[in-house]
Amino acid sequence: MLEEKCSKIDDINNQIEELSKECLSLKDKRQCPNCHAEIDVNVDFCPKCGAKQETPKDYTVEDVESETEETETTEKSEETENSDEDK
Ligand SMILES: [Zn+2]
Repeated sequence: MLEEKCSKIDDINNQIEELSKECLSLKDKRQCPNCHAEIDVNVDFCPKCGAKQETPKDYTVEDVESETEETETTEKSEETENSDEDK
């Protein structure tokens, strides 16, 4: 019972977070992931804590960087290390 309520709270908290994010983006603001300060969307660094901000390319910041790395090259890449430049 209690667990159920707790997960509900979690759920609602998530919703609040989502909505506040939306709210912020509507105001051209965002929240610093480090100190949770309300900062401008187009700043590179948080004015409060100086944390580097990922500048959102799009409206939603939801997309997680999903790099599809399929570099399954069957080529036998011999170790070609450029160690020619000896200083
Ligand atoms: Zn910050």
